[in-house]
Amino acid sequence: MEGFEGASSSESVLDLSRLNLNNNSLDTVSEKRRKDTKQLYLCYNRMTVLPESITLFSNLEFLDISNNTLSVICEDIIRLTKLKALIAKNNRLNEFSLPKHFGSLQLEVLNFSGNRFEEMPSQCLQLLRLQSLSLGGNRLKSIPAEIESLTSLELLYLGGNQISSIPAELANLPCLSYLVLCDNRIQSVPPQLYRLHSLRSLSLHNNLLTYLPREILSLVHLQELSLRGNPLVVRFVKDMTYDPPSLLELAGRTVKSKNLPYSHKDLPSHLVNYLDMASKCPNPKCAGVYFDSCVRHIKFVDFCGKYRLPLMHYLCSPECTSPCSSNPQSDADSDDDNSVPADRLQRVLLG
Ligand SMILES: [Zn+2]
Repeated sequence: MEGFEGASSSESVLDLSRLNLNNNSLDTVSEKRRKDTKQLYLCYNRMTVLPESITLFSNLEFLDISNNTLSVICEDIIRLTKLKALIAKNNRLNEFSLPKHFGSLQLEVLNFSGNRFEEMPSQCLQLLRLQSLSLGGNRLKSIPAEIESLTSLELLYLGGNQISSIPAELANLPCLSYLVLCDNRIQSVPPQLYRLHSLRSLSLHNNLLTYLPREILSLVHLQELSLRGNPLVVRFVKDMTYDPPSLLELAGRTVKSKNLPYSHKDLPSHLVNYLDMASKCPNPKCAGVYFDSCVRHIKFVDFCGKYRLPLMHYLCSPECTSPCSSNPQSDADSDDDNSVPADRLQRVLLG
């Protein structure tokens, strides 16, 4: 395999792509070359196993082994202590392909898109330095709540799976800037996502969303929101479900709206806790609060003066909804206080 030595331009980069390599091909690279190599490309070969000989490249920082037929990653990969990026797109990996201690790697970038994962491997949730995780085009059915442990994550790509819901724990990722969840089966977005203060791009196209939580308006850094291919409701939904409030709720609402003082001296602790849980009615013309009883109401909010986005509101009572006009899509139903300035959301892709 003399051809290897001249295969790349720089000393630290070794490109062994498209050479029909099999599992035993790495042993023939010279020892000096192995030591010098920081970036290794093994794409479009015929490897079924990431061979143990990979550990001969002791200074490796970047490994791309995409487009092989890999179904096993060797146990010894964890000896590559300098490895920062592992790209293994379009292989045959699943949650049983990874070694037990894979989570001890110091990876910052991991790309397992186009494989056969049915669940997110628990080892990946131990990679605490991970900044970019791609598992697009797999067979994932859910996102584990433990995703919240990846606190360095800036990019999470999970497009093209079979995910049906978003866990609220996802909102605990302080650095997350790019969240791609397109082409899944997601029916709702948890309101907690407003806590993703770094979020710049949210990709939700081709899902089963009918509305978004109004809290999405708090994502001040959001520049891109893609929503095409969702069954977003386009007109005012008239049938509201509203259970009359309980006596406890009515009493609680009065205490809160009249600003009556209360403390643990006056009330049993469960009532104090109950009172503390009051939600403020989002209607700007209403000073009311609610507890368990509220009206689910979809409001259309103008985005960039171009699109009207259905947002879910919870209001304190049916009287609190806007008066229904004869034209259900008329501007009377638009909430001017919540309109989003065009400069804030630069690209909303609904079409
Ligand atoms: Zn109200």
